[in-house]
Amino acid sequence: MKTMLKIALIAAAALTALGTSAQEFPAKDKNITIVVPFAAGGPTDRVARDLAEALRKPLGTTVVVDNTSGAGSSIGTARVARATPDGYTLLLNHIGMSTMPALYRKLPFSVPNDFEYLGMVNEVPMTLIARPTMPANNFKELNTWIHQNKGKINLGNAGLGAASHLCGLMFQNAMKVDMTPVPYKGTAPAITDLIGGQIDLLCDQTTNTTGQIESKKVKAYAVTTSKRLTTPALKDLPTLAESGLKDFDVTIWHGLYAPKGTPAAVQKKINDALKIALKDPDFIKKQEGLGAVVVTDHRVEGAEHKKFVLSEIEKWGAVIKAAGTYAD
Ligand code: ASP
Repeated sequence: MKTMLKIALIAAAALTALGTSAQEFPAKDKNITIVVPFAAGGPTDRVARDLAEALRKPLGTTVVVDNTSGAGSSIGTARVARATPDGYTLLLNHIGMSTMPALYRKLPFSVPNDFEYLGMVNEVPMTLIARPTMPANNFKELNTWIHQNKGKINLGNAGLGAASHLCGLMFQNAMKVDMTPVPYKGTAPAITDLIGGQIDLLCDQTTNTTGQIESKKVKAYAVTTSKRLTTPALKDLPTLAESGLKDFDVTIWHGLYAPKGTPAAVQKKINDALKIALKDPDFIKKQEGLGAVVVTDHRVEGAEHKKFVLSEIEKWGAVIKAAGTYAD
């Protein structure tokens, strides 16, 4: 009986503590950290840094970005799954949330069960780019070059389950040519090696490639979406589908997450702030300038965000199973 009472008292104290902290969230002297599971300077990092800036005002505290990269985003994602569920450690991740469950035989977290879903952020097209010394000047010439160089082509990616990996797999399947995958901790280091000529090709988000395409540091051949883009620097690029890869259509999305058990009141505060940030004209302008589209539909709500991710897990799970690609 005594033990029961003690347990009840501890539980009540814990609930009061949680209730109080939820009400006061966020404390002005405490930073909120958004964990980016890829290298600094890459596309996911770029979205997170712009979002952190837009969230500062509505949240009333400093929002910082911290990169924990590696293993196609699974290391940084695991860090957030294990973090204290108090709203001060969040995760920004992309489509990897829906590819990891099928790609990794052992994941140290469950995407459906170990997170609170705080809302979607944006959708980003990808581009197919090559080292600046690539002899091909358009997709037709690239197609010929690829078929002439079978067995010698290095294709960069940000690890198993990353957007670049997924896009690269789909590209190879559509071309019916195997390429050697070269994994990095993010596409920021991959693009550095592409510019340096250490790898031949990369499929990467426009949030990372627009500036490099504009300054002609890389060669660009196509966008991965079903329609051409309107972003000035990218509007002349054909789609892969119109270049002959029938039905090729890849768009990457990003969402915001908290560890499972984050109090509902804290989740609501973050979600309210996210809705304000997604309407911030400065954030929208930055994203649109890089080819991204800010999410404004029902998926900004946590429950709809979760529904969407679960449907994506099903969709990509089937594709990955068919391709037979796994990691331990
Ligand atoms: N673009 C990377 C990817 O392939 C992620 C990153 O480096 O931010 O998924």
